[in-house]
Amino acid sequence: MEKIIPPKYVMHILMTLRSRGHAAYLVGGCVRDMLLGVRPQDWDICTSALPEQVLAVFPGSRPTGLKHGTVSVKVNSRWVEVTTFRSESGSADHRHPDRVLFVGDLRSDLSRRDFTMNAVALNDEGLLLDPFGGVQDIRDRLIRCVGVPELRFEEDALRMFRALRFSARLGFTLEPETMRALIKKAPLAAELAAERVRDELEKLLLSGAPETAYELFASGLMARWARPLLAGKERFVPLARLPKKALCRWTGLCVALLGQGSISSAEAFLRELRLDGRTLGCATVAAGLLKEPLPASPAEWKRLLNRCGVEPVSCAAAVSDAFFGGGSGKALKAVLRSGECFSVRHLAVTGDDLLSLGLSGRELGEMLRFLLDYVIDYPENNRRELLLALAAGGGED
Ligand code: ATP
Ligand code: MG
Repeated sequence: MEKIIPPKYVMHILMTLRSRGHAAYLVGGCVRDMLLGVRPQDWDICTSALPEQVLAVFPGSRPTGLKHGTVSVKVNSRWVEVTTFRSESGSADHRHPDRVLFVGDLRSDLSRRDFTMNAVALNDEGLLLDPFGGVQDIRDRLIRCVGVPELRFEEDALRMFRALRFSARLGFTLEPETMRALIKKAPLAAELAAERVRDELEKLLLSGAPETAYELFASGLMARWARPLLAGKERFVPLARLPKKALCRWTGLCVALLGQGSISSAEAFLRELRLDGRTLGCATVAAGLLKEPLPASPAEWKRLLNRCGVEPVSCAAAVSDAFFGGGSGKALKAVLRSGECFSVRHLAVTGDDLLSLGLSGRELGEMLRFLLDYVIDYPENNRRELLLALAAGGGED
């Protein structure tokens, strides 16, 4: 396993804080990833220094989340989040802590964290603090709540989504008590903001095991957004064959859910989950296209591309291949690569050319569509002189 060493700019922050008499540790995902031999995406530091002390130690740093004690520190044009040790208490709404308290000790800070694997701290001298057995759980590839799982999920229902998202990303299993608590507390997920659920679900879909989405739906976590599943996990397995692109994977998820009547419309499902307009539009059109057989000839592909746009058609082709097999993706790619015309924008004549032939208004529009239709069948004839002659002739009829 590769030994991961924190970069110099991160070590600089840890050492500077320590030289000023503050405790400072790497914590959370970066320590977990280091122990797994995976290069962390970002580096989080926690410290006994209060936010104003961190700001004073590092000129040019910014108070990005003062309420939570977070200061963004800039070293050599890189930003690192430095957060004061804190504890949280109470959560009447299952979403936000009622109170955030800055505390002097690391253990309290670690005890508010979600899972043991995310509650390990490491300082610049290599000292590892692991009060909840996170290192052993990482070795055993287990996701275990810090403390009593039911209580932790009651405090913040999003942790249930995080548990399944981490299991998809890391290939870890939920420890049995954590899993039992998740099933029991799943109804609390209905109270979460849809945007937070959407973000977790998208991260899960973009992981190496997107079929884990099945567990989200089967456990009841998604009950507010979809009806209970009728079929098993195998319906979700094709998701892993899709490119790691949000549009494709959201479409694939809709197809898996539509296929077993768990949702009645991709559009309503995605809208309720507050998906952005582009994803919503693309996935809805693509899922609609999959109700009929996809094209069997280049000309049919081009007509479809003209009608629906490249993005939804590409998405539909990828999902069709992943779920039902066949070579739609390849056939579509060949059409796109050919550079052949499938839109009036690619015609060798423009609207202005037709205006100068005396065409206007509805007639002009109809002529453009006629020429496009012709060129789709005879791509080699997408030539200006030829089309102008055709348009002029067509005008005389
Ligand atoms: P990733 O690699 O996906 O960023 P991460 O573990 O760094 O994984 P973050 O969401 O960046 O996850 O959170 C950083 C740390 O903050 C976590 O490792 C965990 O210790 C803590 N944390 C984040 N969200 C929660 C939560 N909802 N409840 C408790 N602790 C949390
Ligand atoms: Mg992180």
